[in-house]
Amino acid sequence: MRVAYWLLFGTVTRDFVVQHRKHHELSDTWNDPHTPRYGFWTLLGCCLIPDFFRSYKITVTDQEYSRYGVDKVVTETFTDRHPRLGVLLLLVINIMLFGVWGMVAWLVHLFVVNFLIIATITVFGHSIGYKNYELGDLTRNVFPIGVLCVGEELHNNHHRDSRRCNMAVNKNEFDLGYWYLRVLNRLGLVEFKTESA
Ligand SMILES: [Zn+2]
Repeated sequence: MRVAYWLLFGTVTRDFVVQHRKHHELSDTWNDPHTPRYGFWTLLGCCLIPDFFRSYKITVTDQEYSRYGVDKVVTETFTDRHPRLGVLLLLVINIMLFGVWGMVAWLVHLFVVNFLIIATITVFGHSIGYKNYELGDLTRNVFPIGVLCVGEELHNNHHRDSRRCNMAVNKNEFDLGYWYLRVLNRLGLVEFKTESA
C-alpha cells in the first residue's frame, strides 16, 4: 500500500496524517490547514493543479509530529523522503509501456486523482451537499452514494465520527470503501478496531 501511494499519489504519509488529524481537530477554523473558508475558488484551483498534492504540501513542524502522535506510529521511510520520485517513476513506466499515450494517461491520472480525492474532500466536502449532523463546521455529504470517491462523499458523517469505518449511516447512503474493507477483513489483511464498523 505504501508503494502504491508513493507511485500513484506522491503523498508523504507522515505529513498527510498530521494534516488530517489537524484538520479534524480544528475543522474550518482559521487554523485548519485546508478549509474552503480561505476561498472556495482558490482552494479548488490549488487542488486541481496536478502538482503532487500541492494542498498537502504544508510544512509540518517537529512539535506537530509529536503532538499528533505521528512520530510514534509512522516511521519515515525512503518513500517519505522522496515523495516526487514515485510519481515520476510512474511516468517512466507509463512511457515505457505505452509511449506517448502513457504520458497522456499519467496527466489524466494526476488530474482525476486531484479532482476526485483532493477537491471532493477538501473543497466540496466542506461546501456542497447536505448535512446529517450540525457539528459547528462546514462539513457536508456531497452525495449519498459513495462510489466514485469510495465513501469520501459522505464527509459530514466522517467528521461526526472519524473512527467509524462505514461512512454511510442512513439507509439511502452507501460507502463502497467500507465494503472493500470487509473483503480485506475476510482475507485477513485488515482488522476492525471499532464497534461502529
Ligand atoms: Zn474534512
